[in-house]
Amino acid sequence: MKVATMKNRLEAAHPQLTVTDHPTDLNSYCAIRGFDRPLHRVIAGLDSAEARRHVAFKLPERTVNMWTAGERIGAGRYQPTHGGACLACDYLERADTQLDEVAELFQQTGVRPDLIRTLLDSGRGLSAEEAVTIASRWGTPADKFVGQPLRSVMPALCATGRLQMPNNPEVVDVPFAFASLFAGISGFMMLLKDLKGGDPSEGWTQHIFKRPTPFLLRALHTRSECVCCSTLSDLATNA
Ligand SMILES: [Zn+2]
Repeated sequence: MKVATMKNRLEAAHPQLTVTDHPTDLNSYCAIRGFDRPLHRVIAGLDSAEARRHVAFKLPERTVNMWTAGERIGAGRYQPTHGGACLACDYLERADTQLDEVAELFQQTGVRPDLIRTLLDSGRGLSAEEAVTIASRWGTPADKFVGQPLRSVMPALCATGRLQMPNNPEVVDVPFAFASLFAGISGFMMLLKDLKGGDPSEGWTQHIFKRPTPFLLRALHTRSECVCCSTLSDLATNA
């Protein structure tokens, strides 16, 4: 439904553009497409490190990524050739923790792990009870979460920070809706840079309450412990 609506809007705005919709998840799409046909450029605006790793594992030729995490936002572009990082280099599996996505979400939401697995797999909306559990953990009203898929709720929570308000001794949670907007704009800027070409992979991060400086944009180099980069170099060697 969402992809069909987006296709219609894009076609209305850009009559010359050929748009094809794929109402399926990325794993299914790549399986149908065939893994011998690499994705040329992937633009990712996803809500978890796990989802970004899933994109990286498809070994796209180029990737543009945008993200929010609390009071930080960022965007990066990745072309894993000539020593540049791939997307997976920025989302290495953490060796110091045994937590998978379900365990992480359990810690963040308080919802039972078996329910989280069901919520992620089915995409069903949160029940009133689950919404109350999450809302009480984050100190926010529950009603806006009822019926929403967990994957839609997490970005709203992840772009939330704690602020001290005047005349109020308590620190309150504030959703930084503008953070997602900034991340989207920075992702768009990265896409424009990527379309111009140039080899180096680069990333930009920003604290949303601090002044931007040129030092926040930096080159991203391949990491020896990255499984995707080592696979890519094996493929290149055997080609
Ligand atoms: Zn890599």
